[in-house]
Amino acid sequence: HSTLDVEAIRAQFPILNPSNQNQPLIYLDSAASTQQPARVIEAVADYHRGHHANIHRGAYQLSRTATRMYEEARERVARFLNAADPVECLFTRGATESINLVAATWGRTTLQPGDEILLSTLEHHSNIVPWQMVAETTGARIRVIPIDDAGDLDLEACQRLLSPRTRLVAVNQVSNALGTINPVAEIIAAAHAVGALVLIDGAQWVAHGPTDVQALDADFYVFSGHKLYGPTGIGVLYGKRRLLESMPPYQGGGDMIERVTFERTTYAGLPNKFEAGTPHISGAVGLASAIDWVESIGLAVIGAHEQVLLHQATERLARIPGLEIKGRARHKSGVISWVMSDPPIATLDIGTALDLRGLCIRTGHHCCQPLMDRLGVTSTARASFGVYNRLDEIETLAEALSEIRESASRQRRTATVGDSVS
Ligand code: PMP
Repeated sequence: HSTLDVEAIRAQFPILNPSNQNQPLIYLDSAASTQQPARVIEAVADYHRGHHANIHRGAYQLSRTATRMYEEARERVARFLNAADPVECLFTRGATESINLVAATWGRTTLQPGDEILLSTLEHHSNIVPWQMVAETTGARIRVIPIDDAGDLDLEACQRLLSPRTRLVAVNQVSNALGTINPVAEIIAAAHAVGALVLIDGAQWVAHGPTDVQALDADFYVFSGHKLYGPTGIGVLYGKRRLLESMPPYQGGGDMIERVTFERTTYAGLPNKFEAGTPHISGAVGLASAIDWVESIGLAVIGAHEQVLLHQATERLARIPGLEIKGRARHKSGVISWVMSDPPIATLDIGTALDLRGLCIRTGHHCCQPLMDRLGVTSTARASFGVYNRLDEIETLAEALSEIRESASRQRRTATVGDSVS
């Protein structure tokens, strides 16, 4: 089947069907964090109820079961990304930690003064700051792929910026603030042509379409569980095996060693070398369950559904006078960002007024201050869609925004009349 039964999907989300519901929840913030279906919540609870023990080296059955569940989760992630080998998939706390891991290990040992790291204007702070930190300690330099006014990457500029000095290109597959879908396969090919490695920040992609790290030929690929209908505190770093093998460990501790003496320590092989300490076992189990769940629906089906929502939202919001949509890229995922400039309404006020009507959206810089600077704003209001959103929720959003604008215009007129009388 190729179409989505949204009501059947919604029925699986406890948060959308609370028993004591005063006002229906209209959740339009899936780019920040998706909600979790009962199946994922249950998978985590089931692990805690019946299978929890510390993993690896346990002499007893329960520990072996927990170890198997954790390692099966890794295999599930590998199939999800089409990684060649599960050991190429490391569990981390999330996209942020995955990027920091690469910056702190590969970056610190590889980068030299004069080397260049190529980022883009669309990056989240988590794909900027770790590179700035490593640039500071290594003398490497950060360069930035610009965007056009629509929010598309300037690929010609990207081509010009690439040179034999470029050691790494780190870009997102989808912009969290504007929804721009970037042509990452093309960028990877161009980067490889000058001998640079590529890290793709897939945080905003993996829940919206299929991912194949081998077809992309990505060197590193990162994402977070909580934007994929899974738990918080768990994420993935995919890296090509030979790269991960050549990198020093990230953190030292238990589970990542082969042999420790006070004179010298040798490290474990992949993936343990990068997973010091007790990991987020239940998080990995929950993530695997979330992957099973999205794949049972089909990522192409989910993506197509979100495109319908995006199309409708773009049409409806564009018709509201004084509302300016930020980001009109050629290919977008289900994210729409806007400001209200006539009359001017602060984005936080928009968010607060929508919250009173049960609508959850996000306002602010979306951890993309350089992008906000480029757009000439400090903040936008953003609605982002997931598999559970319905067209009538878009309608409610549009109607609420019209009302908010009307009431701001009225207040303005009253204030102006008051001024002229006094
Ligand atoms: N990159 C992008 C594009 C994101 O949207 C986010 C989360 N907003 C991150 C990275 C960081 O993800 P996390 O906070 O889960 O580490």
